[in-house]
Amino acid sequence: MTQASTSDALFLPGEIESAIRSAISSAENILCVSHVSPDGDAVGSLLGMGWILRHLGKNPALALADRPSADFGFIPGFDQIVGATAVADAYDLIICLDAGSQDRMGAIYRPALHDGIPLIIIDHHITNTNFGSINWVEPRCAAVCQMLVYLADALGAPLSGRLAVALLTGLITDTLGFRTPNTDTHVLQAAMRLTDGGAHIHEIVARTLNSRSYAGMRLWGSILSDAELQGRVIWTTISRAQRKQAGAHEEDGEGLAGFFVSAKEADIGATFTERMNKAGQTVVECSFRAKPGYDVSQVALAYGGGGHPPAAGCTLMGPLEEVAAQVSAALQEARRSQFAARQQSTVNASHG
Ligand code: 5GP
Ligand code: MN
Repeated sequence: MTQASTSDALFLPGEIESAIRSAISSAENILCVSHVSPDGDAVGSLLGMGWILRHLGKNPALALADRPSADFGFIPGFDQIVGATAVADAYDLIICLDAGSQDRMGAIYRPALHDGIPLIIIDHHITNTNFGSINWVEPRCAAVCQMLVYLADALGAPLSGRLAVALLTGLITDTLGFRTPNTDTHVLQAAMRLTDGGAHIHEIVARTLNSRSYAGMRLWGSILSDAELQGRVIWTTISRAQRKQAGAHEEDGEGLAGFFVSAKEADIGATFTERMNKAGQTVVECSFRAKPGYDVSQVALAYGGGGHPPAAGCTLMGPLEEVAAQVSAALQEARRSQFAARQQSTVNASHG
């Protein structure tokens, strides 16, 4: 039996633990779903939840609206992830991971059919709308995969083998390799327990953070010189034509906002990526990153998106240049007012 960490009581309140335990124990067929444009925490927590449920003798269906990157193919169980067409009308229980609002489940969740089914939310987004019947939302956790470490403890699933690889993947990708400001001792303890269980940090880093395509690099090259910097916000647009010219796929070029925010002259980095949605309309995926002390989640929320203070995003209807002009101005205004508020609190502190 794996030794439970003291973090469990801190992050998984007793009443939520017993509500989740009883919902799972009375269910057999369980639909697990994570968010559209799935990242490492989405795929890791989805597959991790699958392994926890199988350990308990349950029958989980693991579904994502968008096809996950083949880069995550090393996580055990990856091949069992299904798309919207394989999702049934009826389940005993639905578990939603790493999604801050109902729409983030995309086509997997069909309100007309699924609204009557108990819905457990497990998420760490500060912007979560508590849209489930049981809502476990813990913004102090750096990844949903960290939350699942505590849930696995509570439900008696050993943190080893396939489960350990799945959960360590989300911890590594959401903390950019244990470098984000929310990487605290609890995150490191969780990671330590997963490495004790046989997962290797260097292998997961090599397959995720340190894995880029040539086409993606060419795409970065073609757009970096056009980056704009105003009001300590740095941003660029990424058009479909630019992606096509570089021979880049949908996911190529991701991570550029995170690279931008490393500019000494900027506090906020942003990319505006032009995409075609399933209805054939032009949409713009906005991705924001902020330096410690700045918060981009509120701008994302104001535009109907969400996220965390240092990393957030939203999706708006095109055209690309209009969206970029409007939203980059909003980011500059947010940076300016947050900077002013900080200055004011420094003045207050020194006079206090
Ligand atoms: P990324 O920039 O990596 O796509 O996303 C950063 C963060 O913002 C993630 O935590 C993600 O969940 C959130 N996010 C990105 N795009 C959207 C969006 O369109 N809607 C919502 N609600 N959150 C988003
Ligand atoms: Mn996450």
